Amino acid sequence: MNTFQDLGLNQDLLNAITDLGFTKPSEVQEKAIPILLNTETDLVALAQTGTGKTAAFGFPMLQKINIDSRTTQGLILSPTRELCLQIANEMKLYGKHCKGLNVVAVYGGSSISEQAREVKKGAQIIVATPGRIKDMISRRLVDISKIEYAVLDEADEMLNMGFYEDITAILSNTPIDKCTWLFSATMPKEVSVIAKKFMDNPQEITVGNKNESTNNVSHEYYLVNARDRYNALKRLADANPDIFSVVFCRTKRDTQKVAEQLIEDGYNAGALHGDLSQNQRDLVMNAFRKNQIQMLVATDVAARGIDVDDITHVINYQLPDEIETYTHRSGRTGRAGKKGVSMVIVSKSEVRKIKSIERIIKKQFDKKDIPDGMYICEVQLMSLANKIHNTEINHEIDKHLTSINNLFENTTKDELIKKFFSVEFSRFYNYYQKSKNLNVTENFDDRDDSGRDYRGGQSNSTRYFINVGNKDGYDWMKLKDFLREQLGLDRDAIFKVETKDSFSFFNTENELKDKVLSHFTDFQHDGRYVNVEISENRGGGGRKRNDRNRSGRKEASGKRKERRSGTNSHNKPRRSGSEFKSKGSHSGSRPAVARRSRR
Ligand code: AMP
Repeated sequence: MNTFQDLGLNQDLLNAITDLGFTKPSEVQEKAIPILLNTETDLVALAQTGTGKTAAFGFPMLQKINIDSRTTQGLILSPTRELCLQIANEMKLYGKHCKGLNVVAVYGGSSISEQAREVKKGAQIIVATPGRIKDMISRRLVDISKIEYAVLDEADEMLNMGFYEDITAILSNTPIDKCTWLFSATMPKEVSVIAKKFMDNPQEITVGNKNESTNNVSHEYYLVNARDRYNALKRLADANPDIFSVVFCRTKRDTQKVAEQLIEDGYNAGALHGDLSQNQRDLVMNAFRKNQIQMLVATDVAARGIDVDDITHVINYQLPDEIETYTHRSGRTGRAGKKGVSMVIVSKSEVRKIKSIERIIKKQFDKKDIPDGMYICEVQLMSLANKIHNTEINHEIDKHLTSINNLFENTTKDELIKKFFSVEFSRFYNYYQKSKNLNVTENFDDRDDSGRDYRGGQSNSTRYFINVGNKDGYDWMKLKDFLREQLGLDRDAIFKVETKDSFSFFNTENELKDKVLSHFTDFQHDGRYVNVEISENRGGGGRKRNDRNRSGRKEASGKRKERRSGTNSHNKPRRSGSEFKSKGSHSGSRPAVARRSRR
């Protein structure tokens, strides 16, 4: 194994390495640094985030530029503002003993004239987001016509974000004979295209296999019904009291919503997505860096800049549309030599994606069960016990000891311990004691989203009959959209949608029964009555004749009230044991014991 000295780095850089406490080069550094120091070459490096790739291109760039000159010689392009700042900060740290070095970050959302002033002072290295530097080039606020080294960092992500045109425009302002170093976690076709277009016979290095996930990360998936996704997330968090995680959602809206729900339920959570102002994003990131936020709910794009090394878990609340993106997500944990876990919550309709991801990352997933309530209670109890065991005594308490002792004069040690722990344990116990099993078995065919094939309803959901079907232009997806819109519900709140010719079925949780039925009381759509009733069909066939009879529109409308009032009186929405959130009600909120921050 090489040392940093063996790689040929100069004393200024070695001193910085000592200051930073890096003891040995990482794999990408070991492979890239000698090549970049000793040859004037283009380079394609396939390496995950967290493998030390900033230093892999940063040290050679710092050693090769002329610090006595104020000309801009190095340009590093990165996809996001956060990453841009992170790289600039790292470069400053690596070059802290290089007298006269000026590294400037240019990125959107911050004063362009301020950044231009910094550049004008003589920036040998500019770290930039594509949009901002393109803007500065066109306004002649930067001059990159003499650069000798260009780095395309996270190239796959920049292309994902649609920066192809910008990159092309930026590079057209640079000398042809510069060296281009491209770093990417994955190698989709688009990155190969850019490598071919902008690079001359590049050397290639790969850390691990292409697209492969790091060995420090284990991959787990949890199979639940789509409607239980949120409760599954809460259980995963509760079963890992010291979790410090990024929770990935597919859309900004879901990101915001999940974060809000978590906060409402007592978790230290925050949202990070593109609809937030830069100021809001900075606040959230600062809180996350300080471990005040345990669960950072983020979109893929916003999460690119997360420069935190000790993330214990990545939770894929929803899988990404592009399977390759999973590599980026899981790369947020298991960084800087630490272990991490990447968890995926999937519904049955998504489970096949796991196999595709396994092929891409060349790693196997473990199928795990969402922990049951009693297990979580035990974990929380033992976590609390350990915390108490490791707590330093605050001697301010000494002066109150006599009064406390008097109070517990007749309490045995065992009783005292039980009482003490019950303060927190009972909150979890009360919440979880009647909780249901959230796991779905892989061969139990109750595919919910397609609605084409399912068996047996669960007692906590209600099945409805609705007198519109395929003839009226509804397939299961359209009907689901219609119901969601009408009822103002989430995508997962309506499930087991099954359309027939002239009528259909769908399910909601029992809690929504009143809302559904009252909405469709005397309800007309496009000039016709749309009738919704409780169905006796729990799914899986056997009642088709009955169903067909009930599709007669006039008859159904007439029967509706009679049937509904009967059903409601037997089936009032119940909350006991349900994990469904109830605004303002404690039964739906998580007990406060796990609210503490990690440190
Ligand atoms: P990067 O992949 O460049 O984002 O680096 C991930 C983290 O690893 C950063 O916090 C670096 O400071 C740190 N790092 C980089 N190289 C080393 C090394 N050789 N030893 C220990 N930590 C390192």
